[in-house]
Amino acid sequence: MIAYYSNKNEMYNTYDQNDLGFTYTKENTTFKVWAPSAQQVLLKLYTTGSFAEDGATVIGIKQMNFDQSTGVWSTTVDGDLDKTYYTYVIQTDKGTNETQDVYSKAVGINSARSMVVDLSKTNPEGWENDTHVLPEKPNDAIIWEVHVRDFSSSVNSGVSKANRGTFLAFTEDNTAIPFTQYPTCVNYLKKLGITHVQLNPVFDFGSVNETTCVDYNWGYDPVNYNVPEGSYSSDPYHGEVRIREFKEMIHALHKANIGVVMDVVYNHVYSTKDSPFEMTVPDYYFRMQNGRYLNSSGCGNVTASDKVMFRKFMIDSIKYWAEEYHIDGFRFDLMACHDIETMNLIREELDKIDKRILMYGEPWTANDGENGISGDDCCNKTNAKKLSDRIGMFNDDMRHGLKGGSDDDSKGFIQGSTHSAYNVIAGMMGASSVTFGNWANMPSQCVTYASAHDNLTLWDKILKSNWCSDYNTRDQLYISQNKISAALTIMSLGIPFMLAGEEFARTKKGDHNSYKSSDYINSIDWSRTVDYKELVTFYAGLIKIRKAFSPLRDCTTKAVDESYIVYNGSSITLNIKNDKDGEWQMLSLLVNNTDSPVYSEIRSKYNLPEKWYVLCDGKSASDKALGEYDITQPIPPRSAIIIVDKDSYDKIQNNINANFHTQPTYLNN
Ligand code: CA
Repeated sequence: MIAYYSNKNEMYNTYDQNDLGFTYTKENTTFKVWAPSAQQVLLKLYTTGSFAEDGATVIGIKQMNFDQSTGVWSTTVDGDLDKTYYTYVIQTDKGTNETQDVYSKAVGINSARSMVVDLSKTNPEGWENDTHVLPEKPNDAIIWEVHVRDFSSSVNSGVSKANRGTFLAFTEDNTAIPFTQYPTCVNYLKKLGITHVQLNPVFDFGSVNETTCVDYNWGYDPVNYNVPEGSYSSDPYHGEVRIREFKEMIHALHKANIGVVMDVVYNHVYSTKDSPFEMTVPDYYFRMQNGRYLNSSGCGNVTASDKVMFRKFMIDSIKYWAEEYHIDGFRFDLMACHDIETMNLIREELDKIDKRILMYGEPWTANDGENGISGDDCCNKTNAKKLSDRIGMFNDDMRHGLKGGSDDDSKGFIQGSTHSAYNVIAGMMGASSVTFGNWANMPSQCVTYASAHDNLTLWDKILKSNWCSDYNTRDQLYISQNKISAALTIMSLGIPFMLAGEEFARTKKGDHNSYKSSDYINSIDWSRTVDYKELVTFYAGLIKIRKAFSPLRDCTTKAVDESYIVYNGSSITLNIKNDKDGEWQMLSLLVNNTDSPVYSEIRSKYNLPEKWYVLCDGKSASDKALGEYDITQPIPPRSAIIIVDKDSYDKIQNNINANFHTQPTYLNN
């Protein structure tokens, strides 16, 4: 039982037990729905999930009983109700609605009816051995954001035709680009070295017709928060199928040692009037002013995390995904629509399951003036310090500093701009440096990134800011800008995050908002992993370096305090010390964003040694040295160089210092 804070403005009696929805046994099923304003509630049982299937065969209608002290209507039906569909008919003074259950765990085609399900029968083979894949600490995570359909909808994904674009694509082993050895999908991710995938919405959303699955949508339009989306399953008509296939996806990723972060969108619903929330308790679950729905979500109906029963719903929902589906992390869409108290409560509840489950979100709304809660109470960067150290936020300041405006032709640091370097530097310090700016408590709160699903891909943005429209160009200027971005995000003290394919110059052909564009625009074109192999190898090398040097993954401000950073108008140089045995004792990152060689002042300023080994020479990156490096030489134009001290490297390598790594490739990972 959760101790919910009583809300001063609560208009109804509330409920704090954990049995809303159905409670199934083979002998009977109990249904409970919180509907305090209802005058009557009927439970209707059906054989199938939609009218289209069967002409609506009703197999039972039952009057539910009201408990005024909690606002809950309940009834118990005898018999084995596994796979029986149901709705509630709810009569209030605003009219009568037939709706699916707010607490649905399974639904039929296009979400029309809820379904009772024996969850123990939905577990795939091996599920009893499935466990969370969790980083020891948040900053060990390296997150790759992907849309289920984009991942495998292309023929060159190598995934079987039946599984393309679905949950099951993640279960195919050893996929490769047809007739080649180049890995794709999960097989590719194992080589790349990322630790987590973040999936764009995989709960049931409303914008794709599940009977045809022709339309494309990102899915930021929730209908049933606790049910997997039907269009990603092989059979959206039978509610249990998508549940099993979703679990198969999770299990396959866990077997590959990859954690799964769900993108959760509790800030709004697809359609206010058709939402089970609105049909069950009219005008309760949303923030309203003078009878009008507020719009900080940008979608017409911001939900009310500050109200007891929506707060409870969010907490119950998150716990359900973590426990039933073994979800390893949650990314909160428009997190500033939610109040601080709710997010900290979610953190507390997740901590009871496992403290290592990731939590982070977007620290903004779509419209601050329409949020309906005080600016002091919402989860934006200004209030970051009121949140748990393990609730992260996307660092849009660094993103902007790196590449300029997300969709325009402006330039940032990676394209040679000088005016945005301080945003980059503050971000490299995990937004936790007293000197450079510290909206975060510590680097565990800072998600460091250059691109996500919104806006132009990094490649398209680089091309636009350089006035180039050849999306397949392999001009070294643009590749070098992409590499500088990679070095600055992956070698920073926050939590690195990237849009799928940032590492192979993914293009959406200039489409800056592809949420409902075609597969042609959105689908991952795996042939680019070959065309831009040099870039993939570069990212994979940086990931290895990050994994080998623990200060980069430090959640506290220790590494921030023990780092030197020098900016001289044309280069950023960073030096980080390390006292962990068996690792390099000193690492430097030297970045020159200009067209000319520049000297770094970091050596003279901080009395650093002259002789180093180079792990990243601007062209290639690896955790094995590529050669020796003299820090007194200038940093080559448009380059990110990573060097480590010779002594500790030799010690780790048992003095085989001639064993340089000449041609790294991610395929050998
Ligand atoms: Ca759906």
